[in-house]
Amino acid sequence: MVQRFEESPEVQTASVQHLNSDSISEGVVAGLREALGPTKGSTIPLHEPEFSDIEFSIMQDCLKSGWVSSLGPFVTQFEEALQTVTGARHVIAMASGTAALHLILHAIGVRPGDEVIVPALSFVATANAVSHCHASPHFVDSELITLGLCPIALRRRLAEIATNDNGVLKNRITGAAIKAVVPMHAFGHPCQIEEIISVAREFELPVVEDAAESLGSSVRGRHTGSFGVAGMLSFNGNKVVTTGNGGAVLTNDSSLAVRLRHLSTTAKVSHSWRYQHDEIGWNYRLPNLNAALGCAQLSKLPDILVRKRRLSARYQEVFSRISSTTFTSESRNSLSNYWLNTIQLLTDDIRVRDATLQAAHDAGYLCRPAWDLLSSLPMYTTSPRGPLTNAAKIERSLICLPSGPRLEK
Ligand SMILES: *Cc1c(COP(=O)(O)O)cnc(C)c1O
Repeated sequence: MVQRFEESPEVQTASVQHLNSDSISEGVVAGLREALGPTKGSTIPLHEPEFSDIEFSIMQDCLKSGWVSSLGPFVTQFEEALQTVTGARHVIAMASGTAALHLILHAIGVRPGDEVIVPALSFVATANAVSHCHASPHFVDSELITLGLCPIALRRRLAEIATNDNGVLKNRITGAAIKAVVPMHAFGHPCQIEEIISVAREFELPVVEDAAESLGSSVRGRHTGSFGVAGMLSFNGNKVVTTGNGGAVLTNDSSLAVRLRHLSTTAKVSHSWRYQHDEIGWNYRLPNLNAALGCAQLSKLPDILVRKRRLSARYQEVFSRISSTTFTSESRNSLSNYWLNTIQLLTDDIRVRDATLQAAHDAGYLCRPAWDLLSSLPMYTTSPRGPLTNAAKIERSLICLPSGPRLEK
């Protein structure tokens, strides 16, 4: 009886009531005003793309060339520029980050009925890419420092449920093969990728990195997305740089790269005039038009990253003085792109989070919460999962602050 009472959410609520919801939301809004200045009746979006003459002129050049679809010089130029930025040996530009992740998972052998381990705290695309292979996401907890997949929880979960069945790692409970683990670098902060790689190696589990949010982020100088068998980036309109819609695969494995190029271009056999396709492929390549925009955007990446760091330093300075919040900063040995600056409220009463978000919106600062845990979405309620204590805590207390590069001024 006592045990049950202690674990009930009512007790959590009661214990934080002295923190006072109103004073927390007032503190956060005052912090936003101090860091960003007054909104003057307009609104400050969470993240917005920034275009100037370079983008306008390159788009014009692309249209004039007549090459607008998935072949063309800008696609190659964009891929080469990404190779330089990330250090990945092979880069394959794709129509979206989701398409990139789906195709990687398919190419490394994820098949109907399999399971793929993903963090419950992620954008829905991480789990959807698994579902597009007709496989199941298997949710594992995050840790509180980097907000990424927890290597300890991963090892614990695998030790508990995984068994080696004739060289195939299987979930003892469901009988399904576990084919990969997909850590994600949340809000641009590198997760504990080296530790995750070493746990995965113990179980001979391939690592595919969801680096959708972390272009420009690295661990010990090595770019996120280049640690596992493959990784992917997203260039959606709200990411650090955008191609409108778009993504890319990063890999150091040449045969995987060849296979991904083939699968993403309708599995067409190269020939000067025949239409010959040797398997069911996808139309997943990035159009030249979008790649042109990407080339212009990538030329500004160093400047964008500098301005994002300045904004994050300002937020960190302001929010370190507000006792009811903690600012999420990059952890040791890692460099974050600070795609989205986030704070965590020192209460996990979701009503305080929501009141704070409402107050920020009312004041014109379009803050957002973290994602609803993927394990709670209707299509994933029956998916396998380990304990998700930290992920739930982060879900209930995290707030994303406006982080567009323009705000630095
Ligand atoms: C944006 C994002 C994606 C998907 O990228 P799209 O280009 O929108 O398909 C995947 N995972 C995470 C974590 C993302 O933030």
